[in-house]
Amino acid sequence: MDQKNSFLKKSLLDLEQNGHRRRMRLVEGPQGREIVLEGRKVLNFCSNDYLGLAADVRLRQAAVDSMKTQGFGAGASRLVCGNMAAHHQLEEKLARFKGTASAISFSSGYMANVGILSSLFGRDDVIFSDRLNHASIVDGILLSQAKLRRFAHRDLTALEDMLKSATARGKKLIVTDSVFSMDGDLAPLSEIVALAKKYDCWTMVDEAHGLGVFGPEGKGAVEYFGLEGEIDIQMGTFSKPVGSFGAYACGSKDLVDFFINEARSLIYTTGLPPSVAAASLKGIEIIETEPERRKQLWDNARYVLSALQEMGFDTLATESPIIPIVVKDADLAVRFSRELLEKGIFVSAIRPPTVPQGTSRLRLTVTAAHTRRDIDGLLQQLEIIGRRLCILSKPQVV
Ligand SMILES: *Cc1c(COP(=O)(O)O)cnc(C)c1O
Repeated sequence: MDQKNSFLKKSLLDLEQNGHRRRMRLVEGPQGREIVLEGRKVLNFCSNDYLGLAADVRLRQAAVDSMKTQGFGAGASRLVCGNMAAHHQLEEKLARFKGTASAISFSSGYMANVGILSSLFGRDDVIFSDRLNHASIVDGILLSQAKLRRFAHRDLTALEDMLKSATARGKKLIVTDSVFSMDGDLAPLSEIVALAKKYDCWTMVDEAHGLGVFGPEGKGAVEYFGLEGEIDIQMGTFSKPVGSFGAYACGSKDLVDFFINEARSLIYTTGLPPSVAAASLKGIEIIETEPERRKQLWDNARYVLSALQEMGFDTLATESPIIPIVVKDADLAVRFSRELLEKGIFVSAIRPPTVPQGTSRLRLTVTAAHTRRDIDGLLQQLEIIGRRLCILSKPQVV
């Protein structure tokens, strides 16, 4: 017992001393532009609830209605007796919305990536993965035991060099986030599709931050780039812009049938509560019928981004409502975040290992729910504190 205790204590102490110890902060009440954080009302600029749907009354009502007719738990795996009407309706809807032959839902984005990658790929295969891909993609590749080749972020030359020299007995896959969750930039999907054709690779895209945000109809970055029908495996989540929870993979009928038979994170887990699937379905319907939310989101994001660039912040190459403010030093990022919080503004600091050493940052996300007043208050404090902490050096214009 002593030995176990001292291992835990020492590990936590090491994290504390390196400034890497993480703690969860308590939110009371629902998500939204304003939340109650540790008992205090603050403006929230770190959520992935881009369209402001997480607390929407219609999602709540859809869940309540489903509970009244279908109960709460799913009772078993989808493959036993847990495949309920709400799951089926959600999958039909999603396939129609995305324009694919078929779709299957998973319990979370993490489980979708792990299940997709580990079922389809194995020891004889090679997977080419952008260095900044989400951790769930990396874990899925590790579990698959395929050979992992990580290419420099969005670097097509590096990718092609790897593709040229790769020798796979089995399959080859290029996998990428469509919108990178910490940098906010987009994968060069058209070029990736062209390379995949040239080198006979499968393609997989993670649209966790794309669905509902990108594309004329909100179908994601694949729609934005005009690549519908060109990607073998499209994965995405219901947990971010859709405002609910869970995830999906969509593509051909055979692909979905394969996952039903082989994806262990789908087979060996209980189906999502039907009310969760019903809320996801409502979220997709709202994305379809209320494009004005997407427009508001983009108006807000563009306004914040141009103001920050004007002030002189380093916002990397973001092209999305995810706006990094790079300050490099981890302690400085934490201090920036803390001082903003003292002013009632919540923007989280992101440090290694989530981002590479020397690129610590604030990760600011804008949503459709923020008002111009919220945003102007944010910008004002970012500028004042940014100058005080010498993150901004440009002299004040008088
Ligand atoms: C959040 C995220 C996931 C995981 O989705 P969850 O539904 O939260 O498990 C997967 N991929 C990317 C790119 C993400 O940002």
